[in-house]
Amino acid sequence: MSGADGPAAAVEDSQVWDMDRGYVLPTYARQPLEVVAGRGSEVQGADGRWYLDFVMGISVNNFGHCHPHVVKAVRDQVGRLVSCSNLYLTAPQARLAARLSVHAEGGKVFFCNSGAEANEAAIKIARKRAQSRGQERIIALQEAFHGRTMATLSATGQPGKQKPFAPLLPGFTHVPANDVEVLRAAFASGGVAAFMAEPVQGEAGAKIVAPEYLQEAERLCRSADALLILDEVQTGMGRCGSPFAYQRYGLDPDVVTLAKSLAGGLPMGALIARNEAEGVLEAGDHGSTFGGGPVVAAAALAMLDLLEQPGLFEEVEERGQRLEGWLLKLVEAGAAKEVRRLGLLAGVDVVQPVAKEVVAAGLTKGILLNATSDVTLRFLPPLTVAESDIDRVGLFLQDELVERCGKR
Ligand code: PLP
Repeated sequence: MSGADGPAAAVEDSQVWDMDRGYVLPTYARQPLEVVAGRGSEVQGADGRWYLDFVMGISVNNFGHCHPHVVKAVRDQVGRLVSCSNLYLTAPQARLAARLSVHAEGGKVFFCNSGAEANEAAIKIARKRAQSRGQERIIALQEAFHGRTMATLSATGQPGKQKPFAPLLPGFTHVPANDVEVLRAAFASGGVAAFMAEPVQGEAGAKIVAPEYLQEAERLCRSADALLILDEVQTGMGRCGSPFAYQRYGLDPDVVTLAKSLAGGLPMGALIARNEAEGVLEAGDHGSTFGGGPVVAAAALAMLDLLEQPGLFEEVEERGQRLEGWLLKLVEAGAAKEVRRLGLLAGVDVVQPVAKEVVAAGLTKGILLNATSDVTLRFLPPLTVAESDIDRVGLFLQDELVERCGKR
């Protein structure tokens, strides 16, 4: 046994890094920080220092690390029933489906374990429904990120991520976001099974897909008898100031995919099939051994309790505006050129390729930040972030960025 007090705890920090380098496939460019604990807006490093976290597992811990309500729900459930096949019914899963359906204003839920799996299921629904209609194409957006499995990588609009794994799944067409004419032309060439997009392109640096563009996509889907699939893996669960970002745009999607913050840090993905998509999958069409298991479902139910707190979304908007105010100051100071934000998902493009240097500097000052490229910083603070923490990050950015961009 190797528990907290067992042999594993005795391993020196440097040995942990050696084991990482020696035995973990290097698919991540890791920050030089070993995290040992999390509490609210902070994580603790192996050095004992607490770091203000404006990454939050990339929108996983929307209500902070180890929220007591979620921890209690998990503890209670883990002692009762951890897992049993989806051949049997478990109450937490059924309750969670019902509550998600209420939030989505209708629909039925398929549970899985990640965002990629949720999107994979969405693609399968689109393909199955389209077979008898002779529709083969899924229109997705350039710069989109939908996951790393082969189907979701094919939907992802980033050639750099796709090329090493060619040949990809056929049938995907990528169009530039926010160009309505190109979108209309893509639909006009026929055979469209679905249009798939994130309301805000998180991995691309919080790039906002315009409401009017998505509304036109919905209209085109309706007249082509195609499905509107919205990937809310990063934007969902309150991140953008409503349970799902599409609700801010007044859309009526056929498929909504969720993961990340859904179960407060435990691995869970979900697909909500609405309208045209609801009746497509039948018994035997799709499945997942762990999907919707009782422990993750209990965690997600606790997350929904937090999401349903009165006044939350007004507070998210106020906090978002405060953060945006700091980012706009960078523009005024000539250090940044564009600020984007929906709720508490924000991005800023800086005028010099220093975003990664700023992330490194943040670490030395006890602040975790995220760069999506050399010129873009993305901010994903907890939805409950304190004003003083926003100001701390704002001041840090002002010092660092104005200094760095001015010097060059
Ligand atoms: N879709 C979006 C919008 C995402 O941001 C991500 C992950 O960053 C995914 C899908 C893939 O999710 P996962 O890593 O859980 O498979």
